[in-house]
Amino acid sequence: MSLGLAAVFTILTWFWACNPGRPWWRKPDIVTDLCYWFFIPVITRYLRIGMLIVGAAFLFGITTADGLVAFYDNGHGPLAALPLFVQMGIFLVGEDIILYWTHRLFHGKRMWRYHAVHHSSEELEWISAARFHPINLFLGSVTADVVLLLMGISPNVFIVLGPFTIAHSAFVHANLDWTLGPFKYVIAGPVFHRWHHTAADRGGEKNFAATFPILDVLFGTFYMPAGERPDGYGVAESEFPSSFQGQLVHPFTQ
Ligand SMILES: [Zn+2]
Ligand SMILES: [Zn+2]
Repeated sequence: MSLGLAAVFTILTWFWACNPGRPWWRKPDIVTDLCYWFFIPVITRYLRIGMLIVGAAFLFGITTADGLVAFYDNGHGPLAALPLFVQMGIFLVGEDIILYWTHRLFHGKRMWRYHAVHHSSEELEWISAARFHPINLFLGSVTADVVLLLMGISPNVFIVLGPFTIAHSAFVHANLDWTLGPFKYVIAGPVFHRWHHTAADRGGEKNFAATFPILDVLFGTFYMPAGERPDGYGVAESEFPSSFQGQLVHPFTQ
């Protein structure tokens, strides 16, 4: 899948770059991005499994391996009785509402140190999509996943939505001049999310939704000025580390 995304975005950026320049593999912090791309999904998986076990034990009193398998095999309760595509819809919308608000929380004074890692890419490319501090993931997408699975949504939704989420997050970070026209309110696209990565005075601190920009419209944070294109990404802090190890410890030194 990584090779497929690399090929697709290399070709698309060749024709429709939002910010023309050197190709993604020649960006200075490419090693940092690759470390996140291949290492972070492993951490995320174990964090999620750990929280699912703890959640089932505390909320439902399930402590045996067989009990856990039965509990999570196909979801539970009324939500699991719905057709899988309905559960997918509920999962996508529920996840996006939770992530919208946790994302805004991470832009607050206390939490920014963890989220700054995600904003530290100065050349924003599809490969920057996985750049998240583990604390950010733990209190963001992992918690959102666990909340929805504990509510009864079947883990089978991940079979379809897992690859979609990876491809879509690579897409919104891709260096593409695509506003998606009238569909810009329907699904997050590259120009929509690239604005989120600009400095506050350039239009940043807007466009918090991961998937559905309608949330930004509803909560007054939608920003896509006509005829303008985002540029100038990264964090204001000049001493921000660019290495993977440096970024992992950086929030704890603040
Ligand atoms: Zn952000
Ligand atoms: Zn981003």
